[in-house]
Amino acid sequence: MAPVAVVVVGSGVVGLTTALCLQRSGRYSVTVVARDVPGLGDSASQAWASPYAGANWRPYAALGDTQQRAAEEETYFCLRDIAACQPWAGVRVATMRDFGAGPKEERVPPFLGYVRNLKPIARSEWPAHAWYGYSYDSLVVNVPQHLLWLRRELCGLGGAVRQGELADIRSAPGLAGVQAAAVVNCAGLGSRALGVNDAAMFPTRGQTLLVRAPAVDYTTTAPAARNDRAAYVIPRGDGTVIIGGVFEQGSADPDEHAETTEEILRSCIALCPQLLDRGPEHLQRPEQVPERDVERLRQRVIRTSVGFRPSRKGGPRLEVQRVGGLLVLHNYGHSSLGYQSSWGYAAAAVRLLDAALFAQARL
Ligand SMILES: Cc1cc2nc3c(=O)[nH]c(=O)nc-3n(C[C@H](O)[C@H](O)[C@H](O)COP(=O)(O)OP(=O)(O)OC[C@H]3O[C@@H](n4cnc5c(N)ncnc54)[C@H](O)[C@@H]3O)c2cc1C
Repeated sequence: MAPVAVVVVGSGVVGLTTALCLQRSGRYSVTVVARDVPGLGDSASQAWASPYAGANWRPYAALGDTQQRAAEEETYFCLRDIAACQPWAGVRVATMRDFGAGPKEERVPPFLGYVRNLKPIARSEWPAHAWYGYSYDSLVVNVPQHLLWLRRELCGLGGAVRQGELADIRSAPGLAGVQAAAVVNCAGLGSRALGVNDAAMFPTRGQTLLVRAPAVDYTTTAPAARNDRAAYVIPRGDGTVIIGGVFEQGSADPDEHAETTEEILRSCIALCPQLLDRGPEHLQRPEQVPERDVERLRQRVIRTSVGFRPSRKGGPRLEVQRVGGLLVLHNYGHSSLGYQSSWGYAAAAVRLLDAALFAQARL
């Protein structure tokens, strides 16, 4: 059977991973259309989320959220394989020092049972507000490198990527220049328009700093006093490290906030003394970090970035819908979790499209 033509709208991590899984299946011939494309055009555009991520694998799914948990678990194994077999793809195994919050988060983290090298961290090393502390093998993604790899991998298998902006999802096949059997919507925050008009979508503002800190050899995350704050440290494997951050729901403010930068510097030095080439005996509370240390790390800042996570009330949307005569498969709204669940949702999207296009009615 000849592959069926489909168009994927969006070339962030979700669009490209979904496109790659569809193309790899052999059942589809994929054209991606997107306004923002890795390696093409304005890399500093704040109109999409993917270039702004850390990114590490650190599941946030609640124990009861079985769809998200499955996606994170599947992505863990996919990213681990990529790290082992295709080191040029921008994915590495790194030790995670994971401190979870409470009381909303469960004391038993959902990844227990499948992450490698899981060990409890001694309570004496827990930062304030932590309800548990574990170290384990996580994955860190060098975001610019990984997005380019996804695009090249897709094109290497015969898929295509076209740059262009759509006003309506129904014009995607025309822009792609193909007679498509279906359109896959991975437009993130773009799904507030495009004729999809999803009013449940909203931005969650993030602010991060890229710093030079070659001594950092693990990734870590810890809760803060406020729900819209956390401290996280993600080495990119090239001597630079992303530190953050904030989760400001509903904020679309594109500018850097100086007080947030200050907070990030202080909380990350407290959590990860390696940022200043020091050992774990220098773990401390943010309020104990001396001003001169904040200044030392400030000198190592390469840039500050503000990006917007594509959040959705009720969680990600993965479902098939008929829009006029067009079959549309939605896969968007991944908020803070787009990288760490990318492969799981992409595989589920392929199964849904198979069912929508090829399933025979059985009596
Ligand atoms: C500061 C920060 C830190 C993060 N850290 C992590 C992390 O550590 N781990 C993790 O898993 N996730 C992390 N995330 C979340 C992650 O970045 C997102 O979940 C992910 O990038 C969403 O990808 P996406 O492909 O759905 O959307 P996007 O990257 O926003 O891509 C949307 C695509 O749709 C296209 N598009 C939209 N509208 C139109 C239109 N009208 N016409 C044509 N094209 C259109 C865009 O051009 C783009 O190509 C972080 C995010 C931020 C901001």
